[in-house]
Amino acid sequence: MSDALRAALRARLAPGGLSEASDPAGAFDLRTDICGHPLGTPLAVVAPADDAEVAAVIALCRDHGVQVVACGEATAYWQPLDLTDAVALRTHRLRALPEVPADGAALWCGAGVPVRVLDDHLRRSGRCLAAHPDGFGETSIGALVATGMAAGVGMARAAAPDLVAGLRVALGSGVALTTGACAVLGAPPATSVGLPDLTGLFIAAEGALGVITAVAVRHEPIGARAQVRASLRPVGQASLVALLEALREPRTYDTLRLVQEIGPRAPPGWQLDMRLHSPRDPAEANGRAEAAAAIIQSSGFAMDVERFDDSRRPVWRWQGPMGATRSRLAGLRFAALDVDLAWRDLPGALHCALALQQRAQALPHHSLRVAVYAAPEHVNVGMHFAMQPNDAGEEQEILALLEAGRAALSGLSVLPYRWGGSWGPHFHAKLDPGYLAALRAFASALDPQRVVRARGVFADLADDTVVRSAATAASYGRADEP
Ligand SMILES: Cc1cc2nc3c(=O)[nH]c(=O)nc-3n(C[C@H](O)[C@H](O)[C@H](O)COP(=O)(O)OP(=O)(O)OC[C@H]3O[C@@H](n4cnc5c(N)ncnc54)[C@H](O)[C@@H]3O)c2cc1C
Repeated sequence: MSDALRAALRARLAPGGLSEASDPAGAFDLRTDICGHPLGTPLAVVAPADDAEVAAVIALCRDHGVQVVACGEATAYWQPLDLTDAVALRTHRLRALPEVPADGAALWCGAGVPVRVLDDHLRRSGRCLAAHPDGFGETSIGALVATGMAAGVGMARAAAPDLVAGLRVALGSGVALTTGACAVLGAPPATSVGLPDLTGLFIAAEGALGVITAVAVRHEPIGARAQVRASLRPVGQASLVALLEALREPRTYDTLRLVQEIGPRAPPGWQLDMRLHSPRDPAEANGRAEAAAAIIQSSGFAMDVERFDDSRRPVWRWQGPMGATRSRLAGLRFAALDVDLAWRDLPGALHCALALQQRAQALPHHSLRVAVYAAPEHVNVGMHFAMQPNDAGEEQEILALLEAGRAALSGLSVLPYRWGGSWGPHFHAKLDPGYLAALRAFASALDPQRVVRARGVFADLADDTVVRSAATAASYGRADEP
């Protein structure tokens, strides 16, 4: 990094806001993503303390011809990050978390607030999020919006567009943009309808176009919840799909998840976890749990069915303590594939996932999980493998297995859960040309000098061919394009 840029960043950022990779004391702590892929060496890591500092970093980098990469905790397993020779902008100091509006209007909070901290904050005011995305709740709300949270423990009643009423974004062009229909007229963020709204352009944009600095989050009364858990005997796919269909009554559950794990400590068969919801009273939530338990019992292949309500035992929203994502995987190679699909395509996707799980058993593995997360209108099928390769050959076999999985899944009617740097080669050719032209026009308008670097679908726009290298990936949005 040039001395001039270093001095300018140091002068503009609050103390502790700049560290350089060459500085052992302040070296960047995340050298690989959660799967062990190297992130590349950044010129520097900056941690701005507020929106103005984010905008200033982007402007300074633009003036010095350096790219900026928005970076969260690097837990994404679809390779969205390439920090090589860029300034990595971390968002964890954007932690503004004001009081929850008593009138139910959306809450503007800093993009760096971990989703679990946000939900706990809302709960202290009798409110909560309508979804609980992320395994352990550690990743920031900004990263979840940027990656288009779509699935997980709290998938059923809300995805990113339902949870977000507006955004503040520091665009690559230098403009500070506030989205949300209310926000453009200076009203509190109560609704995002009424005017054309740009919010959706940044959901799942994976850091392209600009850095999200604040999110207007929708919330709802806590209501009541109950839980049903069941162990199911190993049975054929058709029986499993029929059971899920029978349990699918819309908007009554927070979670409907079916998991088969293969590993030394994994129980045999399938584990079903259902968290039921009532906006009003515990009796209704418990009644729903009772009805679900009866459906599971009547399937004839349940070995054990447990049912409990909020008052007897708190219903878990995330899988474990904060800080567990990386520590649980310590020393293991995380390898994962997720796709979203319509209910009617569940049998094909499940078949594909189970075939992949079977192939993975031949490799050194710690746990091989296939999970189906059901929302009322769509389903997420995920393969989450923790492996322990002993040599480079086994490492290559794991990578080949994942690539074969992506190729097989892309032949089905599915949507990659997130695009990142790994799905483009398989899905790019399927993208509608009109959609691509519109994305390219937005990229040209909002970041004409390509200051913000991202992988993901925007990066794949160059020449409509799939681009893998960081240098070429940054060449989207040519000024001569419409
Ligand atoms: C075990 C496990 C379970 C998971 N379960 C779920 C789940 O249930 N539901 C779910 O939705 N997800 C789930 N995920 C995905 C997880 O939530 C993502 O990994 C997370 O959203 C990425 O957060 P991050 O901070 O690690 O982002 P990073 O990996 O650092 O970045 C991801 C992308 O977001 C961009 N980005 C980050 N912050 C910003 C910002 N402020 N502005 C613009 N762009 C930004 C980056 O440039 C990059 O493109 C799970 C992941 C793991 C490992």
